[in-house]
Amino acid sequence: MDFKKIGVLTSGGDAPGMNAVIRAVVRAASKSGVKTVGIMEGYQGLMDGNIVDFSTGDVSNVIAKGGTMLYTARANEFKEQSGMEKALKTIRDNEIDGIVAIGGDGTFRGATDLSRHGVPTIGLTGTIDNDITATDYCVGFDTAMNAVLDCVDRLRDTCESHARCIVVEVMGRDSGYIALQTGIATGAIGIVIKEVPFDEEAMIQRILRSKGHGRRSFVVMVAEGVRDADGRPYGEGLTRRIEARTGIESRFNRLAHVIRGGAPTLRDRLAASMMGEAAVKLLLDGKSDLVVCERDSSIVTYEINFALTLDKMYKNKLKPGDLDAFSHSDIRQMEMLAEMRRQEIRDMYNAALTLM
Ligand code: ATP
Repeated sequence: MDFKKIGVLTSGGDAPGMNAVIRAVVRAASKSGVKTVGIMEGYQGLMDGNIVDFSTGDVSNVIAKGGTMLYTARANEFKEQSGMEKALKTIRDNEIDGIVAIGGDGTFRGATDLSRHGVPTIGLTGTIDNDITATDYCVGFDTAMNAVLDCVDRLRDTCESHARCIVVEVMGRDSGYIALQTGIATGAIGIVIKEVPFDEEAMIQRILRSKGHGRRSFVVMVAEGVRDADGRPYGEGLTRRIEARTGIESRFNRLAHVIRGGAPTLRDRLAASMMGEAAVKLLLDGKSDLVVCERDSSIVTYEINFALTLDKMYKNKLKPGDLDAFSHSDIRQMEMLAEMRRQEIRDMYNAALTLM
């Protein structure tokens, strides 16, 4: 196919590094003589025909900026046939030959729908949770974790002065990666994530022993997805229980969206640049319905449906029939990738416990 114009969009939750991806797409396309248009506000803009022309100059100096210059939105109508028809009209009217869609699993569902309707589409991860099982790395993850480190280091200073415990809740609805890795990096005395059973009593005993040795400040990291028996955020109740059991004044801190902003780190700018460039190459090579991933430091691709189904397998959310379209070797590969991720998290958690 003779490619003349690529559309790029960002969708779902924003992530630092999305601008660096957009820049890479615009630059790589331009080097091949292909124009890029920006689709504003994700699939909403695609349905509304909210399209802007891009030249390489338009992406000067965006590599260092957080957020997304294309903005983002949740666009539920895109899941319906009426939304798809509007999107296809925009694509025809603007003569868009292929799309790079940057976001998380919802964004990839939209991307695979577009591919099924004959629009070449490549998905690219931009999500701070690092919760796409097919890839070792999602753009935005490193910057978000560094933002957590900065906040917790500050909280630690004041906790040390006042002899307090802080329980810090960080983003990660379905994934404990941020809590786990920042927990290790901030010297937390407890880490609570969905993926590994949490021994609260053992943590209380660690705090008491440590207090007995003269330690004044304590950090506990909790992933937002962890809930107590009543469905309430686990960290809030945990804070009260730590204070009651240890006598240490304890405070709950929800970092929430503050960790989603800010200039992307080197890791994110690099991943965004390499993945953005790869996405354009794939489209120009006639590929579609793929997600660009990183595995063992190399760029690889998986079919979007493979990546989405692998996620379901990893999260134990498979429904009857979900695996019907896959070969025996695909299913085997999914099982292997899901188990590798589980093992990686268990190993990291055990190392964290050793160091507490
Ligand atoms: P994050 O997990 O970081 O929030 P995400 O891409 O998963 O990112 P969602 O809000 O789930 O975020 O999805 C983004 C957009 O993708 C939705 O607003 C919608 O337009 C589109 N989308 C989501 N699910 C589907 C689906 N099943 N079919 C078609 N499009 C979808």
